[in-house]
Amino acid sequence: MWPILIYMQQSIFTPEEEALIQREFDALLDAYAHTSHSQKVELITHAFRFAHQAHYGVRRLSGEPYILHPLAVARICVSEIGLGSTSICSALLHDVIEDTDYTAEDIAGLFGDKIAQIVSGLTKISGGVFGEQASEQAENFRKMFLAMSKDIRVLIVKLADRLHNMRTLEYMPTEKRKTKAMETLEIYAPLAGRLGIFSIKFELEDLALKYLHPLEYKKLVAAVDRRKSEYARNLKVLTGTISDILDEAGIQHDVKGRSKHLYSIYRKMIVQQKQIDEIFDILAVRILVSSVKDCYAALGLVHNRWKPIPG
Ligand code: MN
Repeated sequence: MWPILIYMQQSIFTPEEEALIQREFDALLDAYAHTSHSQKVELITHAFRFAHQAHYGVRRLSGEPYILHPLAVARICVSEIGLGSTSICSALLHDVIEDTDYTAEDIAGLFGDKIAQIVSGLTKISGGVFGEQASEQAENFRKMFLAMSKDIRVLIVKLADRLHNMRTLEYMPTEKRKTKAMETLEIYAPLAGRLGIFSIKFELEDLALKYLHPLEYKKLVAAVDRRKSEYARNLKVLTGTISDILDEAGIQHDVKGRSKHLYSIYRKMIVQQKQIDEIFDILAVRILVSSVKDCYAALGLVHNRWKPIPG
């Protein structure tokens, strides 16, 4: 049995906003239903209702109801990282201790020690690590790293939180954008990389670039856009050829192609002082096979067809 909560009666949000919040929650449950995790729908629903009333009436800088942020973070945890109910609940509750009157003890009482421990480790870091409140920031980071060493999900939910904040960074005051972007590039993106969550590392880097070097970013987006159809054509030919060669050799495989993310192109252009057309590895192909033997065989076939460039 869940303890009875007192829900606020007055509706500060419009019926449309209430409907939007409900839709976002339904979408979260729907994404969760499509995972192989044991279905703790009741627990997640309870965490959502609790967070909803705790943040009730509060809005983000974008003007939307605050609860849409934890909902988005929880959704990233499920859909983009594949986490289960403990992380989903922690994501839904991640700003409750920091932004409301509820304490870690309240969370522990309602949702257990594990979730309370993760949520405590997720205390919001305000100001920026390179800003004036640098020592307070250092303290916050120390706290997060300590909590992280007990449960790595603290960091993973934090990355989801940062990703959503970066996706909505345009609503932040201009001077805050750069500090957030810098912090993202120097701390969070490398951490995502170390955890092997590359889709998030790449998106964090691209978003950071967008706010740190807006002009270069715009130029780069335009340059890549102009070449988009060419890239797509080349990738199609390339993956098709590889597939044919492997089929011929009787190797079961899956070939995927992609183009480099913007930040890594940007780095090559800056570090190696190159123009975009001088970068040879903008397109990348990944070949998945089922054994180590097939892997070397595939590599041999590829090297046989295309001459490797040393270094
Ligand atoms: Mn947050």
